Amino acid sequence: MNNKPITEFMSLEEFEKIKKFTKGKETPFLVINIEKIEKNYEELVKNLPYAKIYYAVKANPHPEVIKLLDKKGSNFDIATIYELDQLLDAGISPDRISYGNTIKKEKDIAYAYSKGIRLFATDSKSDLQKLSKNAPGSKVFFRILCETSGSDWPLSRKFGAHQDLIYKLILECKNLNLEPYGLSFHVGSQQRDIGQWDNAISQCKYLFDAVKKEGIKLKMINLGGGLPSRYIHHTLDVELYANEITRYLKEDFEGNGNGFPEIIIEPGRSLVGDAGVIISEIIMISKKSHMNQYKWVYLDIGKFGGLIETIDESIKYPIFTEKEKPHEKTKEIILAGPTCDSMDTLYENYKYSLPEDIKEGERVYILSTGAYTQTYSSTYFNGIPPLKVYILE
Ligand SMILES: *Cc1c(COP(=O)(O)O)cnc(C)c1O
Repeated sequence: MNNKPITEFMSLEEFEKIKKFTKGKETPFLVINIEKIEKNYEELVKNLPYAKIYYAVKANPHPEVIKLLDKKGSNFDIATIYELDQLLDAGISPDRISYGNTIKKEKDIAYAYSKGIRLFATDSKSDLQKLSKNAPGSKVFFRILCETSGSDWPLSRKFGAHQDLIYKLILECKNLNLEPYGLSFHVGSQQRDIGQWDNAISQCKYLFDAVKKEGIKLKMINLGGGLPSRYIHHTLDVELYANEITRYLKEDFEGNGNGFPEIIIEPGRSLVGDAGVIISEIIMISKKSHMNQYKWVYLDIGKFGGLIETIDESIKYPIFTEKEKPHEKTKEIILAGPTCDSMDTLYENYKYSLPEDIKEGERVYILSTGAYTQTYSSTYFNGIPPLKVYILE
């Protein structure tokens, strides 16, 4: 369906295993292959051996995903106290958890602090004061605003602050009983331009030096997320990203003989993205008029069922059919979801292709849907229940 064989995305054995496991299960649903997450985790550790991994829980908080990463020794980055509770209930100790959201209620900071959280992200004076009052003595890292062009899912200007402001906030920590611990950034999710890490790391270097003159020694850089998963348009391998990032760090931080500061990385998408497959059924195939060139194909999952990242056709998932063979005759189509909201069209500008003889009732396999899908699925919009999840056995 993508002019690329499925073997570019998963082995035929895995595809067969998934088909067999899911046979007879009512669509739509997500299947997660935990083994793939384990492999991705191990690969990241191998390529960035000096980095401490803080998994971005929001990418996929399924209990089995958390259990695996706990077992592998990962740390965790949370966005809310609800994610915190989930991790604490799973027996993960608070010293392995960072509170990475810069937007926090005072009472949530106090709650996290009472549960033992001592590492917080911040990017504003307001939040810093809340932290000072409710999480005294904690380590804080400051999020710098950074360029997210080149990413398929940019986090834009919402997070982070300009380095001049960050500089001032760092100095203010002296009077606030907080430890200015380090800096963080996020270059945008599914970032295709590795050079964005270079820019961000250079900004960190600049700030490390600037505050040092004021007697403050920062100790940590948090490289954020942004490492890619495998969608239709391939990116470079994570290994190459890692090698480049290491080179940038060496350029900026080893030159003065001090070695690297503590390095944290917060992968989400790159660990879990390619570990998920959504299986959906074609509800209807139709044309708007006899003369229209393209058929509309309506699936039983759409934007509100978990495919929110198809907004602006940002993330282009590899999609395959049950019987897809190489060299099969295909036709370009428009792909849409099932709900009564016209926003629920998946791909119209970018044309996917389906086998010419595809029928209503057949299944499609939406690959690389392990990140940012299930938790985005709505609760009962049009009466449709949230997306079901199965762990591949
Ligand atoms: C979402 C998020 C991540 C994960 O980003 P990916 O691009 O999915 O790896 C990391 N850090 C923070 C602070 C985030 O908000």
